[in-house]
Amino acid sequence: MIGIADTGQAETDLAAGTLTCPRCAGSLQPWGHARARTVRDHGPTTVALRPRRARCRACRSTQVLLPAVVAPRRADTTAVIGAALQASARGIGYRRIAVRLNRPVSTVRRWIRAGRDPQHAGWLRAQAVAWLARVDRDVLGGLAPQPTRLGEALTALAAAALTPAGPGLPARLTVDANRPDHLWPARRVSGASPAGLRFPLCRVLTRP
Ligand SMILES: [Zn+2]
Repeated sequence: MIGIADTGQAETDLAAGTLTCPRCAGSLQPWGHARARTVRDHGPTTVALRPRRARCRACRSTQVLLPAVVAPRRADTTAVIGAALQASARGIGYRRIAVRLNRPVSTVRRWIRAGRDPQHAGWLRAQAVAWLARVDRDVLGGLAPQPTRLGEALTALAAAALTPAGPGLPARLTVDANRPDHLWPARRVSGASPAGLRFPLCRVLTRP
């Protein structure tokens, strides 16, 4: 699976043969589509998508190009799950979060358990720190200490999301200032290419 920030750009890059295979760095070609799926966003909004599938010309493995708005094997958008984790890191209980997001208590509890797992929180933070180390090392020293591992992971992810990509990096991540409860929406910087987003947005809840 490859997480992508901009489906239109990914399509263009796929047609041009400039998207590379995560296994062997061979060139990917279009290979139909994965099954259609619908995920729930904030409130009653749903997002329908049919992710593109690609195949490597060299090793012949196939990859699903999953837009960053959704997490693998989850029925809710990355933004909704991220909002739940943020609220949890601020000390809000899962029952209140479930009411606020209008989701079943059991579902919210599952997300939060996964996010609070020390190994997983450590992994999340490592992803963000690795990104920051590549684009802006100065930010690393300025991260505010947090009382929990999950809080540290989310702070590092938010910092990574706010950091402009340096030269040679394909994309940058931004936090929508109008919707600060929404973590991890991604937008391409105009003119940057290719679109393959290296920062594993889609894997924030699923370790490889
Ligand atoms: Zn390959």
